[in-house]
Amino acid sequence: MYKKLPDIKWIIKQLLSTPSISCTSADIDQGNLDVINLLANWFESLDFHCEIQRLDKAGGAEKNKANLIATLGTGNNGLVLAGHTDTVPFDENRWQVDAFNLTEKDNRFYGLGSCDMKSFFAVIIEALKSIDLNRIKQPLIILATADEETSMSGAKAIAKHADKFALNNARYAVIGEPTNMIPVRMHKGMMMEAIQLTGSAGHSSNPALGNNALEAMHQVITELLTWRSELQNKYKNPLFQVPVPTMNFGHIHGGANPHRLSARSQPQI
Ligand SMILES: [Zn+2]
Repeated sequence: MYKKLPDIKWIIKQLLSTPSISCTSADIDQGNLDVINLLANWFESLDFHCEIQRLDKAGGAEKNKANLIATLGTGNNGLVLAGHTDTVPFDENRWQVDAFNLTEKDNRFYGLGSCDMKSFFAVIIEALKSIDLNRIKQPLIILATADEETSMSGAKAIAKHADKFALNNARYAVIGEPTNMIPVRMHKGMMMEAIQLTGSAGHSSNPALGNNALEAMHQVITELLTWRSELQNKYKNPLFQVPVPTMNFGHIHGGANPHRLSARSQPQI
């Protein structure tokens, strides 16, 4: 029926060989627009109506970041199939195969994003090839987002304009994240925050002439650890492998050298 479309392995190969790394470091961060354009072409050949939503410029630099909203049909009770098009960065020296190609070995596919989660879109296309799409009674909506691995700016932009894309009419959503083929129906959610402490600099020989932000950080972390215990006592759900909320101290920045009182410190959680 849709013979123009390439086979699933070729689609995965094209997606993997189109890099779209998201990273909070600007020198590693890449756009995902090329992946979005590939997907839009394929879904257009399946008669989907494709809208490419360009994301606002971040920090003044155009990053070629975009979302795809591909819709087939109109009305209520739609089904959303959603995924992200970016990948995490990678360490080339630790890869045994070309990260930007599809390698098939021992009945598995290898490549950056093969599992998490570019191949999901290839699986959707493959599934749709065998369905008579004229018989679909409720809308089918494909969401392909940017920046899931970092700022979630893609998902945020879609949520902001959900009305415009008729997403509020959808009733179900399946997100094709890898879960070892076990359906996961809930997620804890995630926040990343930083606490900026501002003191005043001074020489270490007279602490009274300054206000050391590193010492204040000690108090902040103590408070956060107490709060973490409170949260873990209050919220428990045995359906999660880790049944309580977690809080990770991932990065601390502050101070200059041992004989200065630190004017600034910043823990990130
Ligand atoms: Zn993912």
